[in-house]
Amino acid sequence: MAQTLRFDGRVVIVTGAGGGLGRSHALFFGSRGASVVVNDLGSSHTGEGASTRAADVVVEEIRAGGGKAVANYDSVLDGDKIVETAMKAFGRVDIVINNAGILKDVSFARMTDEQWKLIFQVHVDGAYKVLKAAWPIFRQQKFGRIINTTSAAGIYGNFGQANYSAAKLALVGLTRTLALEGKKDNIHCNVIAPMAASRMTETVLPPDMLASLKPEMVTPLVAYLCHESTAENGSLFEVGAGFIGKLRWERTGGHGFPNDKPLLPEQIQEKWEVITNFEDGRATHPDSTQESMEGIISNFENVSKEE
Ligand code: NAD
Repeated sequence: MAQTLRFDGRVVIVTGAGGGLGRSHALFFGSRGASVVVNDLGSSHTGEGASTRAADVVVEEIRAGGGKAVANYDSVLDGDKIVETAMKAFGRVDIVINNAGILKDVSFARMTDEQWKLIFQVHVDGAYKVLKAAWPIFRQQKFGRIINTTSAAGIYGNFGQANYSAAKLALVGLTRTLALEGKKDNIHCNVIAPMAASRMTETVLPPDMLASLKPEMVTPLVAYLCHESTAENGSLFEVGAGFIGKLRWERTGGHGFPNDKPLLPEQIQEKWEVITNFEDGRATHPDSTQESMEGIISNFENVSKEE
């Protein structure tokens, strides 16, 4: 096997690290030489209550294994305080794992404004607040690694999770932009859609499935992506039970209508099979807004032929 990937001298913030995936990430980084800020508000999986215990237990586990860790009990909405904890305890921040999360599952018809807002606050505003405080530090030291945590629900949609799926896909957009903006300063940002047994999934997945979904099978990808030797940037991965795959967009070859004449819905109806056909060998995988625009720009010159 290749050389052990170590994180000696690195300072890692893991949000929501009191249980589930976050705990697994924090323990792993602690075991590989990093100093870890174990952040957890200690709330229920639907966001009620608060307790210092969740973070304290994980800090104790890391220290018992000979690692370095401190607890932080702030909500990710106070992300600047989490970064402050890292700076006070260890003097730097190198890696941010935005992992904290809650659910407020309910059908869209019954969803309240409060349930919509709360999910955006924890997942989107929370990630933003931690990153906003860490970003100038990353830029100055010319090093930073970020992992955001999305969900299959965000990528594909999921019944009863309009709030969660919208917020989770927002993190993919955030990741793509930070990857572009951070690149020149050696700041890499990737995003994972994990699948793991945790209190978040234990009520929705059957026990035999949960037994095969260990959080420890997600963490090694997080660690790999955060290592200084890893070049990957701006990518989205599905990961769980030992499976790791990368996702990208696919666009059909489409159809260009003449750009100098009014376009009618009936023309679109006529060409619908072509517009939606992924199987005719013309589909592409645009990887940037520039590549996305090429299809549109190439149609600028598409003028109607003289009859
Ligand atoms: P979990 O409930 O075990 O862990 C989430 C942690 O976040 C909890 O310890 C909780 O106390 C903490 N937290 C909640 N609100 C917080 C806040 N405002 N500030 C700080 N900490 C807060 O669940 P998990 O399954 O380990 O989830 C981790 C992440 O992975 C979440 O973002 C979740 O949406 C995502 N995810 C999980 C799965 C899965 O299969 N488990 C699937 C897709 C996405």
